[in-house]
Amino acid sequence: MNAPILYIVIPCYNEEKVLPVTHALFAGKLSALIQNGEISEKSRVLFVDDGSKDNTWAVISDLRAKNPQFEGLKLSRNQGHQNALLAGLMTAKNYADITVSIDCDGQDDVDAMDKMLEEYKDGAEIVYGVRAARDTDTVFKRTTAKWYYKILNLLGAEVVYNHADYRLMSRRALEALSQFHEVNLFLRGLIPLVGFKSSSVYYDRKERLAGESHYPLSKMLSLGFNGITSLSVRPLKLITSLGFLMSLVSLIAVIVTVIIKLFGYTVQGWTSLLCVIFLLGGIQIFCLGVIGEYIGKMYAETKARPRYIIEKNTLENTNENEKK
Ligand code: UDP
Ligand code: MG
Repeated sequence: MNAPILYIVIPCYNEEKVLPVTHALFAGKLSALIQNGEISEKSRVLFVDDGSKDNTWAVISDLRAKNPQFEGLKLSRNQGHQNALLAGLMTAKNYADITVSIDCDGQDDVDAMDKMLEEYKDGAEIVYGVRAARDTDTVFKRTTAKWYYKILNLLGAEVVYNHADYRLMSRRALEALSQFHEVNLFLRGLIPLVGFKSSSVYYDRKERLAGESHYPLSKMLSLGFNGITSLSVRPLKLITSLGFLMSLVSLIAVIVTVIIKLFGYTVQGWTSLLCVIFLLGGIQIFCLGVIGEYIGKMYAETKARPRYIIEKNTLENTNENEKK
């Protein structure tokens, strides 16, 4: 087997201070891997400038001029990390056999790529980089992240615990990913849906080498909320259950109020008023739930996710069954 072409895909937003420090990390890794014969000489580092407002693109162009192993992709405006990453991956898949996506700030250990490549050679089409420890994160970020993963799993979304967007993907996995057309992207929830053989590689996450995080609490919350709502319609189903429960409770409450009335402990109008409130409350929530079920179905339909992805097909190997 020929050495595969690897593209390291790196989204960058306002990283003029960071790239001059970290580009050497990526170039060094790429050269080392090429020298060991692990990857082809045609491998590249692809920076995606996510509509930066500073000199990031100038820095990338400069790097490109000095070293042809660097390539750049510039988005017309800031589209956010997930979209920038997708743009890079979808472009890279036309040139590469495998891609590794990684942040540009040097937080993710580039040496984990060695193990990722090993896993790829063992047949994995997707290799997740998983943080072994979160020592460099604040206690707040660590705890919220832990609970977030728990809630996501409870809601039925498959996410790899402590994995962000540092991962290897084969061209085949990328082709499959390209069949997902949704606009609200939460890649780490979407990619497990692609399937194929996958595995994980563990590494320690470091501090940012320069510059500042672009994920303040507000952006983190919005990414988190996006993750839940784009992966699960279970919250809508919960409304149906709640409505059903409320209807049941109100039925009992109606019976109780009628009994209280029969014993004569009430003022005029109390029973009828309460019965109406209870019954309507239950019915309303239940109806909302039913509407929610349909909205959930429509949501799934509008996303038009692929209904299946074929991994192997013996028809393609036999000449007798040649395509007409
Ligand atoms: N990023 C991007 N577009 C944005 C925000 C961030 O491409 O709108 C990139 C950023 O340059 C970095 C990566 O996404 O390479 C992760 O961002 P950051 O390191 O700020 O997030 P953190 O590691 O703090 O969660
Ligand atoms: Mg970072």
